[in-house]
Amino acid sequence: MPSEFEIIRRYFSRPAPSALLGVGDDAALLQIAAGRELAVSTDLLLEGRHFAAGAAPRALGHKALAVNLSDMAAMGAAPRWATLALALPSADEAWLAAFAEGFYALAARFGVDLVGGDTARGPLTLCVTILGELPAGTALRRDGARPGDDVWVSGELGGAAYALEHAQDAAAAKRLHEPEPRVALGERLRGLAGAAIDVSDGFAQDLGHILERSGVGAVVRYADLPKFRIADAALEQRCVLAGGDDYELLFTAAPAARAHIEALAAPLGLALTRVGSIQAGAPRLQLLDAQGRAMRTTPGFDHFA
Ligand code: ADP
Ligand code: MG
Repeated sequence: MPSEFEIIRRYFSRPAPSALLGVGDDAALLQIAAGRELAVSTDLLLEGRHFAAGAAPRALGHKALAVNLSDMAAMGAAPRWATLALALPSADEAWLAAFAEGFYALAARFGVDLVGGDTARGPLTLCVTILGELPAGTALRRDGARPGDDVWVSGELGGAAYALEHAQDAAAAKRLHEPEPRVALGERLRGLAGAAIDVSDGFAQDLGHILERSGVGAVVRYADLPKFRIADAALEQRCVLAGGDDYELLFTAAPAARAHIEALAAPLGLALTRVGSIQAGAPRLQLLDAQGRAMRTTPGFDHFA
């Protein structure tokens, strides 16, 4: 059985050309240019909570990084470096090889270097910290929504949650197990979007975070929400409004930015849908049905529920 040092050497020591110093010392050394800010975010994935026991290791490697890339997208930051803290019940080399493959494949696509981490024996736990950069003062924060702004969503909502109920649906399974972080969109929204968040806990809850932080309300038309195809209406509503793990971007922008935003969709190959508007007042989401009547909102996925 390989030692901790062997595991790091064999599986997690690929070159990190964008770091001054990567894996192998007491800390990595990174440099960012003057006038730029660092965006830093961490996500923890626990077996039995965020993924099922026996989950495919390649997809886990992808997802552990993808959820962090999605946080960079939601800030409008360019992802640059990541660290990986890994607790493993045993040093299963086939598992490690597949996990590292999934992780590095996605990292390579987004130009991210793995520059450090920690490895120990324990219940399967994946913790990635990501560092990204952006021009100073341009981050897409949750507190930037203003009355009169449009509310936009990328892609489609509900697919990942639908996969939990219909595991044999391949398109839904891909949404759940191998989400595509919307990094290019996030970067292009700098200077266009007022506020942004990634949909990790469900549309209603995540929009709620923007409303709370910005001190505004919102009106959203359910019919306008871009939806993964789900035949059952009640299930659709639950997956679209409260389903987690979609990793689409939810953002606000002034109406003057509409044409600019619409023009991003084709080059990114990503639907961008205007679903409602921000209003002055209490941080409340008013959801309207096709007849313009108020709908009851479903609470989002709560990690402490
Ligand atoms: P320390 O004694 O400082 O904790 P370690 O022996 O744990 O150092 O790690 C040695 C080097 O390997 C460090 O550069 C650390 O960042 C890196 N490292 C450890 N585990 C991982 C991992 N899972 N992925 C990437 N780098 C790792
Ligand atoms: Mg260590």
